[in-house]
Amino acid sequence: MIFSFLLFALGSSLSYGKLNVVASTPEVGWLVHRIGGERVNVRVLAPAGVNYHFAEARPDYVLALSRADVLCRVGAELEDAWLLKAVERAANSKVMEGQKGDCVLASTVDMEKPTKKLDRTQGDVHGSGNPHFYMAPLAMSNAGNSVEQALSRAAPEHAKEFAERNEKTSSLLKAIHSDGLKRLASLKDKMFLEYHKDFTYFMREYSLNSMGSIEEVPGVSPSAARLALVAKRAMDSKAVLAIASNHDPISLLLKFQQLSQVPFVQVPTSLSSPSEENSFRLWQEGIWNQMLSKLK
Ligand SMILES: [Zn+2]
Repeated sequence: MIFSFLLFALGSSLSYGKLNVVASTPEVGWLVHRIGGERVNVRVLAPAGVNYHFAEARPDYVLALSRADVLCRVGAELEDAWLLKAVERAANSKVMEGQKGDCVLASTVDMEKPTKKLDRTQGDVHGSGNPHFYMAPLAMSNAGNSVEQALSRAAPEHAKEFAERNEKTSSLLKAIHSDGLKRLASLKDKMFLEYHKDFTYFMREYSLNSMGSIEEVPGVSPSAARLALVAKRAMDSKAVLAIASNHDPISLLLKFQQLSQVPFVQVPTSLSSPSEENSFRLWQEGIWNQMLSKLK
């Protein structure tokens, strides 16, 4: 009896005082795990491998959000199509837009802004700037500041610990960046392009040249005329490789390759295992290796 009471007490003390944090994507979840440590329970919503612009809104997201102390998300409209309604339905004032528990990573990142005048009628999904900074380690280091601030607002008694863990995470990300620069050094005089602007920050941080994206409007499949135009430009620029996500349409990539004779590689645009410290590094290394082996 006493023993079972003790077990019960131990069980509740383990979860007692932990912040419930909902993370929109695995990359956001990884950052929250790193900075929150033992002080947080993390629930990641969108599964790895999906296109975050068009992820599925699942009913269980509402329950998770209704219990959340903090919601961490990329922002810049990335998750708007499936997350905003769930937040509304959860009716949890802590995590509503602009509230204390709303943690928007984009707010501490130097964002690539849209170059053209905003026109959502064209289907542009980057109307508030390019949200794919989570693929790049230095941008993620900056995004960590949003997480630290939000966790510290929710649990000020642990602010020092969050600051220390943020510092440690930042060092880890900077080390990954520096290793990537060395690993990809042989590619720095070559020209690349991307299918969707998933890799803009990634390529910039690793000093890779990019001639832009195959898509003309982010989120809209390129027309035959657009494919032909980019294929011509790619040949003129002597592009060596097009980088695409595993979820991008292979039929269009094959068509582009046929027109341009430029090969493509499809890589994961999500990390796996957000709770594991090493998963951001493994993800990045996997992409470096795929690029390097395609260009052997
Ligand atoms: Zn996008």
